[in-house]
Amino acid sequence: MAESAKKKVVLLGATGSIGGSTLRVLRAHTDKLELVGVAASSSHHELAAICREFNVANAVLSNEAAYAEAKAANAFPANTQLGCGESALIELSTLPEADIVLVAVVGACGLKPTLAAIEAGKDIALANKELLVLGGAFVIEAAKRKGVRLLPTDSEHNAIFQCIEGHPQQHLDKLILTASGGQFRDAPLASLVNVTPADATQHPNWSMGPKITVDSATMANKGLELIEAHWLFGLEPDRLEVVIHPQSIVHSFAQFIDGSILAQLSPPSMTFAIQHCLLYPDRAPGVDATTDFRNAFQLDFKAPDFERFPCLQLAYDAMRTGGSAPAIFNAANEIAVERFLAHDLAYLDIPRVIDQTLSKVDIAATTTLEALLHTDAEARAVAHSF
Ligand code: NAD
Ligand code: MG
Repeated sequence: MAESAKKKVVLLGATGSIGGSTLRVLRAHTDKLELVGVAASSSHHELAAICREFNVANAVLSNEAAYAEAKAANAFPANTQLGCGESALIELSTLPEADIVLVAVVGACGLKPTLAAIEAGKDIALANKELLVLGGAFVIEAAKRKGVRLLPTDSEHNAIFQCIEGHPQQHLDKLILTASGGQFRDAPLASLVNVTPADATQHPNWSMGPKITVDSATMANKGLELIEAHWLFGLEPDRLEVVIHPQSIVHSFAQFIDGSILAQLSPPSMTFAIQHCLLYPDRAPGVDATTDFRNAFQLDFKAPDFERFPCLQLAYDAMRTGGSAPAIFNAANEIAVERFLAHDLAYLDIPRVIDQTLSKVDIAATTTLEALLHTDAEARAVAHSF
């Protein structure tokens, strides 16, 4: 492939779990992909090392103290332009030379850079789900209007995207998202009262950032993913289901109106979905070992237990209510998890904070982006106050 035909990639959240998996994909496909911009919150040593390795021209540290430290230490290579703050993040997301922006920052802070990238005509590979739960209506509208690709990188949504491609929407009956059930899937209910941040940040199948690992334990993650699926695939809440699948090998199902079900399978590594998005519509050999059918293995499925996972019920309810309810659910969950990780909230109080925030903050049926961001801020303040 000619040098100029390389796809130019901006990676938001380069030092995180998805960021690391993305770098592995980039190393394997230097003939097809080129990293032109990276952003992280505060880990400046890691970000500088990425800039050196990939010869990246543009970098952003959103944290001011980290930026000042990096500047003082002259940590970045001379040919890397280093920026700081939200405006720099937006500038990075709209770099003229970029073809695709992979959004792998954690939390709703990904919304504005993503909207800016879409307005600048960039394709989006979307790992971040919180921004869709907050502003899905605006993201989908903008992507349609600008004719850019919104490629689902979250493994379940990537699976569904692969299963439904080429099938008319009217043939689709429902989507069934698989969930591992997290680390407390089979723990005695009474033991959950003692769960510590150290317990809740260990996942049996996936190695991920701390926030999503806690979300997997509470299944708030699957709740966020239901709302994500609603926006990405345009299906109403009663056509979106969840099934517990402890092995995390089937990444989701699409069921058609005649009863046929298609699934996508791969081992539990995010590199499969990331590579699918970055090379799309092309394919190439992957970077991780493929499923090996020579050794027997089992695939199990069972319905989720809403008593064990109240966050899943709260997410379903918020999705059915619609309007700004999902935004409030997400904001409250982000704060509750942050407080839990800081030892400021008990594990079982996470759903309580979400529930109480949803009942305290006014839910609007329809809303503007500004009003939604205001509701997001209000819900965060309320969730802090318990
Ligand atoms: P992580 O905590 O490991 O990494 C987050 C990254 O975002 C870090 O590089 C951090 O520096 C950066 N970041 C955070 N806030 C920022 C800001 N304001 N500006 C710039 N950079 C910022 O998180 P993760 O596990 O990689 O997850 C990232 C997103 O992808 C989340 O939305 C998560 O739900 C989603 N996701 C993750 C996985 C996974 O396997 N880790 C799977 C599916 C979806
Ligand atoms: Mg997922």
